[in-house]
Amino acid sequence: MTLLMPGEGCRFWAAGRCLYEESVNPGLRREFACVVLAALEDRFDDFLTRSEILGLSGEQAGQIWERRMAQALNIGWDCANFTALQDDAGEALCLHFMEGICLLRMPRCPGRCRRYKLSRETVSEQGDGYE
Ligand code: SF4
Ligand code: SF4
Repeated sequence: MTLLMPGEGCRFWAAGRCLYEESVNPGLRREFACVVLAALEDRFDDFLTRSEILGLSGEQAGQIWERRMAQALNIGWDCANFTALQDDAGEALCLHFMEGICLLRMPRCPGRCRRYKLSRETVSEQGDGYE
């Protein structure tokens, strides 16, 4: 068995996960997405479909969505793995959330691989949330 050097320090490394796949094709792998965000997107898609059926103009639909946004966003973090983290503004975020993806859904970094790329700014999760 070959022992690999730790992947920490790689530009694709975040909290023990590998972000390589996501970085080459952002948003392509739906299974990486945060389930809460995905639910929100589904609501938005549903809203757009209804707007089309009702014959609303883009402007009208935009105004209605804006008014309902707060309500739409208020779906809570309905996820068993949600781990609260407060940002500077006092808002509750999820510790595992990162630019639309869930770090828990990303593959684990098995150690330094051929894609290892040294970075002075290793991606860290939500600032200092992770040790
Ligand atoms: S753990 Fe957090 S980031 Fe991951 S799916 Fe759940 S709410 Fe989204
Ligand atoms: S070392 Fe390889 S597996 Fe680990 S984070 Fe970097 S690219 Fe991904």
